[in-house]
Amino acid sequence: MSSVKVEEFYAAIRDVPDFPSPGILFRDITPLLLQPRLFHAAVDRMAGPLGGQPVDTILAIESRGFIFGAPMALHLEAGLVPARKVGKLPWKTRRMEYALEYGTDAIEVHLDAIKPGERVLIVDDLIATGGTLLAATQAVEEAKGEVVGISVLIELADLSGRKRLPDGIPLWTVLSYPRE
Ligand code: AMP
Repeated sequence: MSSVKVEEFYAAIRDVPDFPSPGILFRDITPLLLQPRLFHAAVDRMAGPLGGQPVDTILAIESRGFIFGAPMALHLEAGLVPARKVGKLPWKTRRMEYALEYGTDAIEVHLDAIKPGERVLIVDDLIATGGTLLAATQAVEEAKGEVVGISVLIELADLSGRKRLPDGIPLWTVLSYPRE
């Protein structure tokens, strides 16, 4: 898998202007998912920076975080915890709200999903403003887990989401826009 070049990943991301609303340039990962060699390499690269550190739990963000989080959990022999939109989880939940440009949104995690002291890796496809990942780190911290890192495939560096995340939690990314 190491033979995959970063340009191949970029070539497999489709840019869709004005989706889901005017002015948004959507970075569509579905062409990458059609190519198992690239999908596999992306998962390996997202797990790589851990460098063999043990992880108890992958907290994967709905919904594209599930696509990468599930194979990473198998690869790392970690449990998989879905962080979902409000009202989707059937059991008791912890809800974390976060600010959007206008208004708020929230994610929920099952109350018993993360145990105190567990080492948690948070996974999503993309960081934009960082609000979703900030809420996810807060959910882990409330459960008294330890966030060992956050791994995403794509960073939209212009939006400075990285700066919103707590100091001391590493953010690992594979691709960054705008391209250097
Ligand atoms: P944010 O909370 O602003 O960091 O937004 C991150 C979430 O929104 C991720 O789950 C992404 O899947 C999604 N997202 C935000 N902006 C984009 C974009 N330009 N292209 C694709 N997904 C996006």
